[in-house]
Amino acid sequence: MRAAIVDKPGSIRVGEVPDPTAGDGQLVLRVGACGICGTDLHIADGEFPPTPYPIVPGHEFAGEIVEIGKNAPAEWQVGDRVAVDPSLFCGHCGPCRSGHGNLCANWNATGDTVDGAFAEYVAVPAVNAYRLPDSLNWQQGALVEPVSCAVHGVRRIGVEAGERFLVIGAGTMGLLMQQLLQRGGASVTMVDRNAARLPRATQLGADAVTTDTAQLSGERFDAAVDCTGVPSAIEAAFNSVRRGGRLLIFGVAPGDAQVNLSPFRIYNDELTIVGSMAVLNSYGAALDLVANGAVETAPLLTDALPLSEYPKALELMRSGAGLKVQVLPNAEQEG
Ligand SMILES: [Zn+2]
Ligand SMILES: [Zn+2]
Repeated sequence: MRAAIVDKPGSIRVGEVPDPTAGDGQLVLRVGACGICGTDLHIADGEFPPTPYPIVPGHEFAGEIVEIGKNAPAEWQVGDRVAVDPSLFCGHCGPCRSGHGNLCANWNATGDTVDGAFAEYVAVPAVNAYRLPDSLNWQQGALVEPVSCAVHGVRRIGVEAGERFLVIGAGTMGLLMQQLLQRGGASVTMVDRNAARLPRATQLGADAVTTDTAQLSGERFDAAVDCTGVPSAIEAAFNSVRRGGRLLIFGVAPGDAQVNLSPFRIYNDELTIVGSMAVLNSYGAALDLVANGAVETAPLLTDALPLSEYPKALELMRSGAGLKVQVLPNAEQEG
């Protein structure tokens, strides 16, 4: 089959690899769509430590079952449409046994540490598959994984009706976070240095938008969410929460980044700072939110490219020109 292959950091090509087969408890899917996210850029650049090379990346995906391995649950039939939680938790380490599989000591994920879905076919554990309603297309199905990350983030920070949130970063994740917070009864002020990204936040119901936190003129929020991973943005988010406020570190900062936060303020203002790492028991909820229209997907799905253009899709993602860039690995065959 054809697949996007990262042979080693910086070396990306589309070529032939052996077809996957369905191992014990596995399904093989014909991939309908697979989204690119920041992690894929890190994998391409050699900046995601768990990734072994060569690898076929791709962890945000949906597809049609074409092969069923032995011992897979009987509910699955060839032809069923599914979206897939890429998490591969070991189940037996300390974090897994205490219900924190996303912090697994032996963490793996389809597309991050084992071959993923920027390919015509992908093998996945059947227990990770969720039935995709007929009302959702492949692109919406592939968006469920980032939604599930946002669901986990919202669960970590918490939201109450009437709260005022500051969200920094109006990319795909920021706009998903915005929608979920609003659904929880909060109002959202969105900040992004790229003014071109702000009209979508307004269209999705943001209370206010701005390109610079300095323009918030000392306004204090009940909680702030950083969706950028940029140290200066995290500091601005920290400085914008009220006494007793909360800060969620949701964006992925470089591993060696440092921020300058006042411990006196954390103490004196009783601030709460929390992190949110990937997905934890949030995939099914995310699929429901997409299926029932609670999350608007159309404004986020800006680009869909064929598999042959995977390197171009990566560069499009890197440029920040669009929002969610996806690859349709079987679109060329389907014409
Ligand atoms: Zn991702
Ligand atoms: Zn584990």
